Amino acid sequence: MKGKVLVIEDNEQNRYLMNFLLEKHGYSVIEAFDGPQGVKLAAEELPLLILLDIQLPTMDGYAVARELRKNPTLEHTPIIAVTSYAMAGDREKALAAGCTGYIEKPIQPATFMARIEQYLEESPGESRP
Ligand code: MN
Repeated sequence: MKGKVLVIEDNEQNRYLMNFLLEKHGYSVIEAFDGPQGVKLAAEELPLLILLDIQLPTMDGYAVARELRKNPTLEHTPIIAVTSYAMAGDREKALAAGCTGYIEKPIQPATFMARIEQYLEESPGESRP
């Protein structure tokens, strides 16, 4: 196992696809269906990287990113917003909320893992066990 990735996503198909790709490449996956659950799991599990849907029920992805960044132990954890390709304004808002970068929906299976591994390589927290 290469480490844990937390997927915070309310859409079952997207969650399934990300989970499938990550596990196929040797990562273990923790899943949250909404923001509060994601914030709780992030603090408990200290994942290598967090994939964060922006359109979530009860608490949107921006609020989730801001909440995650309040936790000092998650300070260097890459948070990757998963946003619709059409929503260009969402990306700036995601970065302003504390996200490290973004990946466009629909998820492209051919390039998804390369993007994730690039974010992991660039992460200053990558040496963490
Ligand atoms: Mn969603």
